[in-house]
Amino acid sequence: MQIKKLISFLEKIAPASYQESYDNAGLLVGSPEQSIKGVLVCLDSTEAVIKEAKQKNCNLVIAHHPIIFRGLKKLNGKNYIERTIISAIKNDIAIYAIHTNLDNVIYQGVNSKIAEKLGLTKTKILAPKSNLKKLSTYVPIAHAEMIRKALFKAKVVYEDSTFSSMGIDTYLDYPTDGKLKLEVHFQEASQKQLLKILTDYIAPKEFRYEIIAIENQSAQTGAGLIGELSRSADEKAFLKRVKKIMKSSCVRHTALLGKKIKRVAICGGAGSFLLPRAIARNADIFITADYKYHEFFDADGRIIIADIGHFESERYTIDLLSDIIKNKFSTFAVHCTDEMTNPVHYLT
Ligand SMILES: [Zn+2]
Repeated sequence: MQIKKLISFLEKIAPASYQESYDNAGLLVGSPEQSIKGVLVCLDSTEAVIKEAKQKNCNLVIAHHPIIFRGLKKLNGKNYIERTIISAIKNDIAIYAIHTNLDNVIYQGVNSKIAEKLGLTKTKILAPKSNLKKLSTYVPIAHAEMIRKALFKAKVVYEDSTFSSMGIDTYLDYPTDGKLKLEVHFQEASQKQLLKILTDYIAPKEFRYEIIAIENQSAQTGAGLIGELSRSADEKAFLKRVKKIMKSSCVRHTALLGKKIKRVAICGGAGSFLLPRAIARNADIFITADYKYHEFFDADGRIIIADIGHFESERYTIDLLSDIIKNKFSTFAVHCTDEMTNPVHYLT
């Protein structure tokens, strides 16, 4: 089976367009046409992981974090990123990253896995996205189907988010084929690509369009999750439980508030930007990672912030991805990495 088929399946769960603008998720190394011998799933595709992939006869590494994040101008092997890419290319190993797009989905996402591990129910997206837009334009009827197919193929829009309606365009004279009004819903991040595709099919002088913001917030995409414990828990006992479940060596947290914990906000990885949302939605505790000293003050007696470690918060993403793939495909082996890629060590 070709890599592109697996990617297409994964991106039905976490569409590439859901990634944040700073991200670089996607196929980073290798050809989408390559056929899969075996898959190795990890959080960080380090040099050691590429070596492990080779040993396990895997020619596709699926990582949560993109090893290429900023632009790479040279490949001389002067740092771990360049060495990893060189090693992957030399060994014909592809690297695919599924990052903030997997963070931003409610089903089968990074945070839903944490919620499942912590036993949260009634989970909802903590900061729903409202970055949907609608474009309306007029296309020649003869081209309409081709345009729709091109948009689906590029995953700029989805089949259930396009609408066509008949109308009469008096601006240009089309006596033979007429025009169709085409309306599509798309993620803000895809706007440039959407316009590019449309200009491939519609002559510039005929291309008139309008774009409006859709104000609905999506209940299914966005950052972080909030949920409830089935039974309120004592603060300290809950923190200990979280530490144990997430296998954290150290949990750094703000002062306990002497209240029971019922509502729990979570965000795998660096989540401090979500604290105002967690407070506004009455979370008793916010579990995340990468908190800095001064940011802890922002709890201000209103919530408990618990930093459980970046790697620790996302560790079950490896099982999540491996299970998703194994449940769907059986023609190639899927392994979870045995490498401990957490760069942070704790002196205990
Ligand atoms: Zn992360």
